[in-house]
Order: sequence, then C-alpha cells, then structure tokens
Amino acid sequence: MEQKIGKEIQLIRFPQGLPDENIFEIVNVNIPEPKEGEFLVRNIWMSVDPYMRGRMRSPEETKSYIDSFQLKKPLEGSCVGQIVESKNDLFKVGEYILGNYGWREYWISNGGDVMKIDSKIAPIQSFLGVLGMTGLTAYVGIVKIGKLNEGKDTVFISAASGAVGSIACQIAKIKGCHVVGCAGTEGKVDWLLDEIKLDYAFNYKTVGEHNLSSELKKACPEGIDLYFDNVGGKQLEAALDNMKSFGRIVLCGMISQYNLTHPLPGPSNLFLAITNRVRMQGFIVRDHYDMLNEFHSSMYKWISEGKIKWKETVIEGLEKAPKAFIGLFKGENFGKMLIKIGSEI
Ligand code: NDP
Repeated sequence: MEQKIGKEIQLIRFPQGLPDENIFEIVNVNIPEPKEGEFLVRNIWMSVDPYMRGRMRSPEETKSYIDSFQLKKPLEGSCVGQIVESKNDLFKVGEYILGNYGWREYWISNGGDVMKIDSKIAPIQSFLGVLGMTGLTAYVGIVKIGKLNEGKDTVFISAASGAVGSIACQIAKIKGCHVVGCAGTEGKVDWLLDEIKLDYAFNYKTVGEHNLSSELKKACPEGIDLYFDNVGGKQLEAALDNMKSFGRIVLCGMISQYNLTHPLPGPSNLFLAITNRVRMQGFIVRDHYDMLNEFHSSMYKWISEGKIKWKETVIEGLEKAPKAFIGLFKGENFGKMLIKIGSEI
C-alpha cells in the first residue's frame, strides 16, 4: 500500500529574544498506522500560546514546570481533530478529540491522553479557548487564586482583550465587580468598553509607561483589590502603586518579559507589597484541572445566557503557525489565536 505523507512543524534551534520564522521547519513525515487499541486523528484546529516561548529554551538554560521542546521533533500544544481511522472500540471514526499534539496534521493515540469534544455544545475550536485551557486559566485565576469578593472588588486586568484576559474580565463583571482593563490598540479598548462593558479601559501604548500609574489612579481612585497580571513589567509596577491594603495580585503571566535576553530588575516598587500587605500568588493552570467540571458547568450556563463573548483570530494553514505564534508577542491576535489546519471529514 502506498505510504501516506503528512506535515509537521519542528523547532530546529532555540531562539534568542523574539523568535523569527527561521527557527521553525515544516517537515514531511509518514502518517503512522494505528495498531490494535489505537486511533488516527487528523487535526482541524491548533492553538498557539505564549507559554510555548518558555519551552523554547534549552534545558540547560532554564528549569521549568514543563520540559523544553526537543529540537528536530514535532512541537506540541493543544489541538482539536477528528478520528479518521480507529482500532479502538471506544473511539469512533468522526468523533472530535482534544489532545496535545498540535503543530502537525496527523497523530496517533490510545485514548489515554485525550478528551472527546461534543460539537453540539459549542464550535469545536472553543475547546482551545473559552471552554479550554485559557478559559479555565481565567476562571481559576479569578475565583480560586484571586478569591474574588463578589459585588465588592475593584479588579484590574492586563492583556484584557486576549484569550485569558477577556474571559477573566467577564467573569469579574458577571460577579458584580468594578473592572478595569488595558490593551494595546484602540479597537481592542473599544471592544472592552462597548461589548464587554468594562467600567474603564485604556490603551497602555498611547498612555505610555510613565503614565500607567496615574491612569490607574484615575480608573480606580479608591485603589485596586485584585490585579490579574498577564503582562508583568511596567504594568505590574503601576498596579503595585495602586493596590489597596490587603489587596491581591494574581501572577498569571508576564508576556512582556518572555523574549528578554537579559532579565530586567524589578518591580522597582515591590516594597509596596509589604507596606500595603499585598498577597501575590503565582499559579499554573495544569495544577487545577480538578476544577474543570465546575468551570465547564459555570461557563456553559453563562454562554447559554449570553453573558460571555469571545473573539478568535483565525490563521489558515499549518505552515502559518510559526507566524501566528510570533504574532502573540506583537499583539496581532484579538482574543484567542487559532490555526485552522484542515477541514472536517
Ligand atoms: P493573549 O491572547 O492575551 O495574547 C497575548 C497578548 O499579550 C497580545 O495579544 C498582546 O495584546 C499582549 N502583549 C504581547 N506582548 C506584550 C507586551 N510586551 N506588553 C504588554 N502586552 C503584551 O494570550 P493568552 O491569553 O493565551 O495569555 C495571556 C497571559 O496568560 C500570558 O502571559 C500567558 O503566558 C499567561 N498564561 C498563564 C497560564 C498559567 O497557567 N499561569 C495559562 C495560560 C496563559 P495587546 O495588543 O493588548 O498588547
């Protein structure tokens, strides 16, 4: 029988600073045959996420909660595909599957490391965003780590129009809080104000890093109870300047730092965390998958009530995945950045 060929994207060297497309290579590979108990999935969607930058460091350079990507091997990441061949009675041809085998067209599983997706609940790619890892991150960060006080807190969220930030904003709004967000374009800020109905939103680029603190003072004259940090750097410093006594800072991500070749010192005003008795806590969503059912039932309800909106930036074609990934660090996505790899059966 003729061997069928699929494509995958490999990392050929670790980047320094902002990655460019030359560190990636698209490679033709043989499509494997499922053995007894296995099935073959063809990817339809894949996700690119800022955390992947952390996996693009040599194992010697950094020790992290997750291993570095291996050079000359397919990259990994969340994906949704459809079973096209099966030798496992529990997984039927045509079913939609969520797995961690992105950056490629085809993959094999025995069912142990995947989740079935019900396409009747929501469009299948939503399980990579609002109903997936980024939605869960927002939920865990606001509800569990941030311990949101319903109806009382003033909340500030950075990268507020992104996949995590936009859902975090809406959960805090649903729970009756005063919510302020910032983003990097006027269009994103307009969406946050007009569609998401934030109480205040601003463009951190036009405000300028020296005025972030005074802008937050304007947005939250009484101070911030909860800062959900997706960005780090100057935005974290500005939030520290404006925290209320006994406020909380949820350290979710620090995208402004991921491509630095030398770590910047800071935040320069960290001492304020002492004077204001601020609790800062980092978290990693993969430690909180026990909250998936709770998250899904809340999110299904909010979506059915029309209380949650979400944006997707869709890039067509596996070969564009590197460009889409790099675009995350330039603000080229509005909401969840997704790659459409192929069509459904
Ligand atoms: P987003 O959808 O928010 O995309 C990234 C956005 O970050 C860009 O669109 C851009 O928006 C903004 N950005 C990029 N570079 C900078 C910069 N230098 N300064 C300020 N803003 C910048 O990504 P996600 O929602 O997937 O992730 C958001 C954050 O959450 C990331 O830091 C990520 O690492 C973190 N994260 C953490 C998890 C955890 O378990 N702790 C899990 C998932 C995500 P703009 O146009 O507004 O600048």
